[in-house]
Amino acid sequence: NKFQKQNIMMLIEHVTTLLGSVANMSNVELIINPPKEMVYINCDESQMKQVLINLIKNAIEVMPNGGKVTINVQSTTKFVTISITDEGSGIPEEKIKNIGQPFFTTKEQGTGLGLAVSFNIIENHNGKVSIESKINQGSTFTLSFPTME
Ligand code: ADP
Ligand code: MG
Repeated sequence: NKFQKQNIMMLIEHVTTLLGSVANMSNVELIINPPKEMVYINCDESQMKQVLINLIKNAIEVMPNGGKVTINVQSTTKFVTISITDEGSGIPEEKIKNIGQPFFTTKEQGTGLGLAVSFNIIENHNGKVSIESKINQGSTFTLSFPTME
């Protein structure tokens, strides 16, 4: 892996462009709220894109009848925070602990690997993940990484 200074909004724009047609097919609108200033993180571009793709794809897949995926990016001098919010089924409290375990899936065609791989990548980037979820309202996955000057 190759760590470099990356403008996080460029990566988000790239992956949302890639996922645009997948979102359209299920009437999902992707909303991006960028930060006021440009923010950079030290990351491996393709790995960070893979994380964003996995999270945004999960958010799209949890809304088979459409809805909104909102991506908020904020930054302080210390941290860049990226949150991905869906309006899907939510995650039952007893299943939260299984999220990110290899092969945990609730999907017929799922692999249960997307989040396991993503959480590893996030950890390798000195990042953190937190999950907030309400049944029948949706979930928010929040990532935070050290800001790069
Ligand atoms: P897969 O998508 O192949 O099932 P993942 O590792 O991406 O594997 O996700 C594992 C499981 O976590 C999913 O099957 C689903 O049960 C749950 N999950 C992930 N993201 C969400 C989400 N945004 N809303 C509800 N459940 C989710
Ligand atoms: Mg997945």
